[in-house]
Amino acid sequence: MNTHLEDNYRHKGLRKQLVDTLRTKGITDEAVLNAINEVPRHVFLDSSFVELAYQDKAFPIGSGQTISQPHTVAFQTQLLQVEKGMKVLEIGTGSGYQACVLAALGAKVFSIERQRNLFFKTKEILEQLPFKVKTFLGDGYEGLPTYQPFDRIIITAGAPSIPEALVKQMKTGGIMVIPMDNAKGDGQTMLRVTKMDDGSLKKEEFGDFKFVPMLKEIGND
Ligand code: SAH
Repeated sequence: MNTHLEDNYRHKGLRKQLVDTLRTKGITDEAVLNAINEVPRHVFLDSSFVELAYQDKAFPIGSGQTISQPHTVAFQTQLLQVEKGMKVLEIGTGSGYQACVLAALGAKVFSIERQRNLFFKTKEILEQLPFKVKTFLGDGYEGLPTYQPFDRIIITAGAPSIPEALVKQMKTGGIMVIPMDNAKGDGQTMLRVTKMDDGSLKKEEFGDFKFVPMLKEIGND
């Protein structure tokens, strides 16, 4: 086994502390906290950052992208209300960490990444882990028509609006969690969008966040 993928008692101890930190920051869903406790975050970072993997901070993962802060991952996951066996679509695979947290909750995870290099790098890491995540190189704005409908959709990049194709691919009663660009242009407001029986969307707001932008089309940038 690649030593970088080792999960030793020290990592596990640091992870317990991270879970305590997330509790003090208001994460209350025990299933979500368990999932965070289960997924080794250090394996998603470049090895030089292993020591820092369990701080509640975002980190660079190459190709100009970041692994989301654990609090943000926990917060979005909590809003998503995932149940075992649900089909969950993630836009923005990035490091693969959020996808594994969803898989640890028992979801069937489908995750799309637009950036070619990151897609292949993450795919290789995910293949060595016990979490079941199907990854796709593609444009998240299009969703995955072949695998729809989804119970849940989570967007992990700052979106200018609610992508229409994704709303179509949601089940009735389904939930989408989406950080949406604010009017000031200095970050995102976390939105939970529920698709109602009559097809209308219920929207709830959950505070300010900062994400890398959701861009169009597959890229090598
Ligand atoms: N969920 C990730 C966080 C990734 S940051 C994690 O746990 O690490 C956001 C990611 O969204 C970046 O990797 C970025 O390349 C990707 N992204 C941006 N626009 C996208 C789009 N239209 N489709 C798919 N991925 C996109």
